[in-house]
Amino acid sequence: TLSDRLTSVFSSLKGKGRLSEEDIATTAREIRLALLEADVALPVVREFIAHIKERARGEEVSKALNPAQQVIKIVNEELIAVLGGETREIRFAKRPPTVIMLAGLQGSGKTTLAGKLAKWLVAERNTPLLVAADLQRPNAVTQLQVVGERAGTQVFAPQPGNGVGDPVEVARESIEHARRNNHNVVIIDTAGRLGVDDEMMQQAADIRDAVTPDEILFVVDAMIGQDAVNTAQAFLDGVGYDGVVLTKLDGDARGGAALSIRHITGRPIMFASTGEKLEDFDVFHPDRMASRILDMGDMLSLIEQAQRTFDEAEVERMAGSLTSEDDFTLEDFLEQMQMVRKLGPIGNLLGMMPGMGQMRDQISNVDDKDLDRITALIRSMTPEERRNPKIINGSRRLRIANGSGTQVSDVNGLVTRFFEAQKMLRKMKDGSFPGMPGMPGA
Ligand code: GDP
Ligand code: MG
Repeated sequence: TLSDRLTSVFSSLKGKGRLSEEDIATTAREIRLALLEADVALPVVREFIAHIKERARGEEVSKALNPAQQVIKIVNEELIAVLGGETREIRFAKRPPTVIMLAGLQGSGKTTLAGKLAKWLVAERNTPLLVAADLQRPNAVTQLQVVGERAGTQVFAPQPGNGVGDPVEVARESIEHARRNNHNVVIIDTAGRLGVDDEMMQQAADIRDAVTPDEILFVVDAMIGQDAVNTAQAFLDGVGYDGVVLTKLDGDARGGAALSIRHITGRPIMFASTGEKLEDFDVFHPDRMASRILDMGDMLSLIEQAQRTFDEAEVERMAGSLTSEDDFTLEDFLEQMQMVRKLGPIGNLLGMMPGMGQMRDQISNVDDKDLDRITALIRSMTPEERRNPKIINGSRRLRIANGSGTQVSDVNGLVTRFFEAQKMLRKMKDGSFPGMPGMPGA
């Protein structure tokens, strides 16, 4: 994953002050591989990386972030920009009904999406009508009827008397029906094939011409991977569409298809489908998708928070206190715990950083009560004891416990924690753990 790759990039970039041409090239190479692994199409990856390199060169050096973090931040921002910046909403027709037509391969999730959209629209006080214009498969109509019942909406289906097995005719009649029955939105479910074929495209195009939709949504399975580009292009040429819906995002696909489709077609991705249930549906969030493609959402939040929270002085001070385990005292330990506490949720994020799990246990699994007790304990120690906790023997422990109103076991616990943190620090210094981002020199 990109996390793994960048972990090694992190350690190789550790300690450097700014991005060199070589740093950019190295990081770009890893990001390129990661995007390919996320199934982003090669030409898209190429263009994207070229753009990233360009921007990285012009970037000012941040004091809060290390060079690799800076590149990741750029990549993330650019991904969000390409994926669409802000979400686009359904365009409602000036004169109802608003006609939404769904197109896409068989199994992409059109019928399910019809129900999801309907339910979502009902919640927003609309009166949608679902239209069964997939007459290809025997049970397609029944499936839509089941979905419509769940969504609490009416379904317009070919019955004796309306439509005669002709999807174009059904679609056309549904608009009239909607008008007569005050449905302000019509959602037309269409047939798909397993692969792109001319007959299917023609049928979709005929339905389009019969109803002139306000929105044609191309529904695509996020698991489709590298095929996404060809399929998206084929539907763009064959039917055309205004927006894209990504489905099956609950699967383990990293979502590179989103980037490819958006880049190739320029059409906005409007909705995301994340399961079989009608509730598993949301408007598309470019930022979430970006961090999914990068596969490092935790890292991104960490970067964001690090930038916001750490002021430079603090970073430097903390970095200073982390430089040598010999200088690392109980005072430093206390200071670190106080800082992690102050950072709040970021403390927990530390645990998600490679190699930082144990450090988190030592430092951030501390609540305010713990912190008060630890503060009292350390305050009851002599300066010599704080500097050199090794000398804290049995009688000193008893004295400290009495002085701070705690138990000897509390003193034992603190001392053990401290030595473990010191050991962690040594390992980090040896390079067995990558540096802690945002803390240069760690
Ligand atoms: P259509 O052929 O395009 O109409 O696709 P369907 O709506 O019939 O969906 C095909 C299959 O995918 C069904 O079994 C759905 O339950 C399932 N499905 C649809 N959307 C999602 C989704 O977002 N996540 C998951 N896991 N399954 C989905
Ligand atoms: Mg269907």
